[in-house]
Amino acid sequence: MRIKRSSRCVLTAVALVGAILGPGGVSAQDRPIVVIDAGHGGDEAGVVHGDILEKDVILRLAFNMAAEFVRNGFDVRLTRTGDYALAWDDRRAVAEEAGADLLLMLHAMGKDDPAIHGAEVYFFEEDAESSMAARLTGEALEAGGTTVTSIPKPWPFLQSPTVPTVMIELGHLSNPLELRSLMSDDYHRQLARALMEVTEALTGDR
Ligand SMILES: [Zn+2]
Repeated sequence: MRIKRSSRCVLTAVALVGAILGPGGVSAQDRPIVVIDAGHGGDEAGVVHGDILEKDVILRLAFNMAAEFVRNGFDVRLTRTGDYALAWDDRRAVAEEAGADLLLMLHAMGKDDPAIHGAEVYFFEEDAESSMAARLTGEALEAGGTTVTSIPKPWPFLQSPTVPTVMIELGHLSNPLELRSLMSDDYHRQLARALMEVTEALTGDR
């Protein structure tokens, strides 16, 4: 079954990230700190496409991205590491407590029309750093061939006073090409490498 297979991948990724970071994710202080928030969890499946659930796809993607960030010398924290829900405030609190350079809140979409494709980046317009993070994220995704729409929103979880925050709807589970990417470990690593440049730009800016 698909879900069992994805659970095993998740456990492997947990072991990998845990082995590199050690308990508590302790690492050198001068490394850029990125917090990856896998959307939904537990009773909140997010978008459902056949037997594929957004919460599972995004958690596996988050683990693979975290491992790639770690391999490249970043300090990474995950807001959730299993199948449970978290309040929006708690997701943001993880990033603020970590003193993160960037909070990436990751999601995927689903539409009735399988031809609909592209990514959406949400940010808080009145925060210069959130706006900059969104601009850089959009450019990074576009460089990878994705169509990106950037959308300002006054949502409280985007309004951290200390951590530049973007919410990224990475693509559509309902679009066959985007689904293939969202389920691909190679794509997860590619995405991480693109977002490393965003994190580094923001670190240099602070
Ligand atoms: Zn979602």
